Amino acid sequence: MHMSPDFKPSIVRGPLRPDLMQQEVLADLLEASARQYPDKTALIFGCRQLSYAELDAAADRVAHHLIEKGVRPGQMVALWLPRGLELLVAQAGIAKTGAAWLPLDEDTPKDRILVCMEDASAVGLLTRAESLAALHDMPVAIWAIEDLDVPVSGLPQRREGALPEHPAYVIYTSGSTGKPKGIAINQGSICHFLRAENAVLGVRHDDVVYQGFSVSFDMSFEEIWISYLVGATLWLAPKSLTSDPEALPGQLRAAGVTVLHAVPTLLAMFAEEVPGLRIINLGGEMCPDAVVERWATPGRQVFNTYGPTEATVSASLAILQRGQPVTIGKPLPNYGLLVLNEQLQMVAEGETGELCIFGPGVALGYLGRPELTAEKFIANPYAELPQEARMYRTGDLARIDADGTIHCLGRADDQIKIRGFRVELGEIESVLCELDGVGTAAVVVRQEAGMDQLIAFYAAELGSQVDPAALRQGLKQRLPAYMVPARFVQIEQVPRLTSGKIDRKALRAMALPAAEDNGESDVPQNATEEALFAALGQLFPGVPLRLADDFFDDLGGHSLLAARLVSRLRQQAAFAHVAVADIYRLRRIGALADAWQPREASAAVTGAWHKAPLQRALCGVLQALVLPPVLVFQIGSWLLPFFTYHYFTGEPDDSRWLAIAWALLA
Ligand code: AMP
Repeated sequence: MHMSPDFKPSIVRGPLRPDLMQQEVLADLLEASARQYPDKTALIFGCRQLSYAELDAAADRVAHHLIEKGVRPGQMVALWLPRGLELLVAQAGIAKTGAAWLPLDEDTPKDRILVCMEDASAVGLLTRAESLAALHDMPVAIWAIEDLDVPVSGLPQRREGALPEHPAYVIYTSGSTGKPKGIAINQGSICHFLRAENAVLGVRHDDVVYQGFSVSFDMSFEEIWISYLVGATLWLAPKSLTSDPEALPGQLRAAGVTVLHAVPTLLAMFAEEVPGLRIINLGGEMCPDAVVERWATPGRQVFNTYGPTEATVSASLAILQRGQPVTIGKPLPNYGLLVLNEQLQMVAEGETGELCIFGPGVALGYLGRPELTAEKFIANPYAELPQEARMYRTGDLARIDADGTIHCLGRADDQIKIRGFRVELGEIESVLCELDGVGTAAVVVRQEAGMDQLIAFYAAELGSQVDPAALRQGLKQRLPAYMVPARFVQIEQVPRLTSGKIDRKALRAMALPAAEDNGESDVPQNATEEALFAALGQLFPGVPLRLADDFFDDLGGHSLLAARLVSRLRQQAAFAHVAVADIYRLRRIGALADAWQPREASAAVTGAWHKAPLQRALCGVLQALVLPPVLVFQIGSWLLPFFTYHYFTGEPDDSRWLAIAWALLA
């Protein structure tokens, strides 16, 4: 430690707020709002809604049946359901047992589900009836939400002995050695976080909050549980809409959404303004200046929240303003941040080093990984309070200004963010190296087709032939879709630095082989296929295009590429009608080409009204003929009682004939 009297340590603490650290668990927060706002709408999904009282009662039923099956505080229950009301009822039900949930994305490969469940010693998996058959060989209890959200005879069973020290959720994040690592966050840490962050954000019970994040990403707590904390209404979007920057803004406007939490990548692509948004909370990755210039309009607050899963969602927050540099601001209440050098000594104010976090949000460590835990979670020699005893080394480079503002300056390691998803490149590389014929492999992030994409480079084993399509399939079976690279490029040898480390800089700069067709692509047969192949060729350079290919599984498409494809095609008048939802629904290139034939021929595509012009004209004439008598009849049936009453009580002759006429018509 520096001893010089002039040394200004690089440490900053958030406001001390002991009132935000209460003896509570997540379910207490939901129950308090259900008592205070029983009739208020808690959840809206399409045309279905649940009030706080209804959500609370449904969660009670689920909890009762889970408790009967033996679920207790301290245990983990895997949660694998598609987006929707049932998922949030199931989540609240687990919370009410006092147990923790282990959220798994809808498209998580079965292998990975098993790895995570075994690692977390989950006691069961909560899913929907439809998925039971596919999961029958899982070595744990499998429950369907449809069987749990059923009436309870007598009083529902309540959680007993749930404590703030019990885990509330476990999130698995990419691990550099090839296996995902589990981070368990306890009830006290997450409850404190919700109160601490909302002390600054200021979400209120009269807000309508957009729910777009997957529950396996911890920013979903900012959406879901801050809303439950204050009694706000959550507006849930279907999966295809969450990543459709063309359609989403209009839907947010129509739903009256006032609070949006998002990764900057998504907001940057929004096709239009959403004037009703009073709070925008960005986080999860670096926020570009352009996003602030566009969205930080007068009368709206735009926040940048920073933090790793290991320190409970977020640890610091900045209010972003036009013309001001983007920073990660200052610590949230009760959190503290400091900067260390490679010898783990505090650097001086303004110097760059590794950012560390302390406070009530710091997790206990990684499940079943004592060595990694000891490396990343260390004693805090600067602690002044019991909750500051340990700190988490984030791996982020940062510096702290004289006024305590923190600047995040990138990573000190190979962890990256892709569309907000946290990925260790080493995990993809080690899975890739286990595939047949691959000798060595390296993965980097590069700007391709105007966006960040993962590109895998591999050297084949001596004498082996490697098919890139087989590599994609192999990775898809073991990794989440966002970790499967966009492109696989064969090279002679993976370049290395003198230290033996992969020379990623060289790989980022290496020219990719030009798109070569080798006759593997199908030949487009009509103008629609030609236009579609041309747009796809720009997004997936060097990838053979076949009509039978699945946009996601075979080409490696993802939400942003789907949005890009649609916006490129829509620039041509003949494709003004195409939608991102079509890609999610139809998936195959051939099916999209069929559905996206010029407008009149594809009336059934989006279910909108696309009749031929003659039919439309005929409809108009018929409406013009039929509407006037219908209106007369309607108005007459309202006025008839009035005139009849007037006939018997008013002056003779003033309305008699009118009343008779209406009576005859009606
Ligand atoms: P996750 O655990 O998925 O939340 O990822 C945490 C990592 O994402 C951090 O360690 C940072 O590298 C990055 N990150 C999160 N929020 C921000 C932000 N607001 N600005 C810059 N980087 C961020």
